[in-house]
Amino acid sequence: MSDNAHCELCEAAKLTEWFHEDDRCWIAECEACSVPMVVWRSHGTEPPVDDVAHMHACLAKVGDQVFGANDWFLDDNMRQIPDHYHAHVRKKLPWMKETRQP
Ligand SMILES: [Zn+2]
Ligand SMILES: [Zn+2]
Repeated sequence: MSDNAHCELCEAAKLTEWFHEDDRCWIAECEACSVPMVVWRSHGTEPPVDDVAHMHACLAKVGDQVFGANDWFLDDNMRQIPDHYHAHVRKKLPWMKETRQP
């Protein structure tokens, strides 16, 4: 195990609204961005593919709930906590809606 004693994602403090929780991930509102974010239960940056698929599926449901069906995008750029896998769901920006569906 890596040094995760001070990882705020491992602490999983329930400071904000929680949307979802299971044995592989949890989804809560991000304090910094005020949007839902999914957090992997394990500390690390490379979750197995099926865990990633699971987390993205959970986050998609919350995205549909919070922003409306398909009116969101998944942002897994980990700027603030680069060593623990998490992803945000954010509202689509107007220019994103212009891209045509295949
Ligand atoms: Zn955030
Ligand atoms: Zn962590």
